[in-house]
Amino acid sequence: MGVIFDSSEIISLERKTPMLQFKQERFHSRIVLPTGVPADRPIEIRTHPITGRTCRITYSRGEEREPGTEALPAPPPFAADRDQCPFCRARIAACTPQLPPELCPQGRMTRGASTLFPNLFPYGRYSAVSLFDDGHFVEIGTAALQSYTDGFLNCRDYLLRVLSHDPAAVFMAITQNHLPSAGGSLLHPHLQVQADRTPANSQRFLQGRAAEYRRQSGARLFSEYLQYERQSGQRSIGATGSWQWLAAFAPEGFFEIWGILPGVTSLREAPDDHWQALAQGVLNTQKFYRSLGRNGYNLGLLLLEDGSDDLELRVVLTVRSNYAPWVRSDFTGFEVMLGDMATFSAPELTAEKARPFWQR
Ligand SMILES: [Zn+2]
Repeated sequence: MGVIFDSSEIISLERKTPMLQFKQERFHSRIVLPTGVPADRPIEIRTHPITGRTCRITYSRGEEREPGTEALPAPPPFAADRDQCPFCRARIAACTPQLPPELCPQGRMTRGASTLFPNLFPYGRYSAVSLFDDGHFVEIGTAALQSYTDGFLNCRDYLLRVLSHDPAAVFMAITQNHLPSAGGSLLHPHLQVQADRTPANSQRFLQGRAAEYRRQSGARLFSEYLQYERQSGQRSIGATGSWQWLAAFAPEGFFEIWGILPGVTSLREAPDDHWQALAQGVLNTQKFYRSLGRNGYNLGLLLLEDGSDDLELRVVLTVRSNYAPWVRSDFTGFEVMLGDMATFSAPELTAEKARPFWQR
């Protein structure tokens, strides 16, 4: 089967703000179908306004129903098996490690129903796990707002303790791998919390990009991004408190959604109600993902506590392959080897489908 790229069909839809570029390029790939009929398959390449990385939207794949997403998968057969779970309350004391006394004399931190303790297998200088509550298997989109709020607040309190103990550990992150298909090693829902003196790649990139942007334009990167998106309106989803939610213009994961907290660049500037509003947006996103028949996702909130004051708080959520038997991975040779995310539907459609979950 021949594949012909017709460069004459390229439509460039470049839009510019003073500094950020939202670049879209659309073209077709011609194939001859098994029936002998020629067909032009639409493809779009978008350039990420923050990173400059490209991603692809292969619209024709969106027409095929992805196996395993016809309905929300049933819970795994061992979903009720709490006996071996170190994160269930009855076993926490015996099975989870404790923070050193210089960080927390009590060993573990509690906030409402949430418990926080160090990761048994740390990824950096400060690496902890924050449980939401005693719910062992919590289906996506069914968690209580208070439990997510407590889980986030416990992370915030831990990171503030780390900062007073080690002011050089300024590269921080809160992440979530919901279900093993997203990288979660235990079913019991939890957040990971990280702080280190050495930045991860994304933190190093964002630190430089946000500083350079502010130096050149006088404005903060994510506020400007948001301003463009507000004018466009195509990918805006809604607000929870001061958090603004939108579908990512150039996704790096399926159904990628961002929450931006404009004007807030530090943990110290985010009082409790900001964390509750964050939790509400995360739960709205989960309910949206559930409506798509998806049960796994990743979440990431990166923080720079280096005093630079350039990088505003932004949380990113993406769906992952379902945690169910024989579901294929969502990352293929295209993502792993070529480095371009290849997703199947337009971010504008993601926003349209997600909006009802912010209006309830
Ligand atoms: Zn458990």
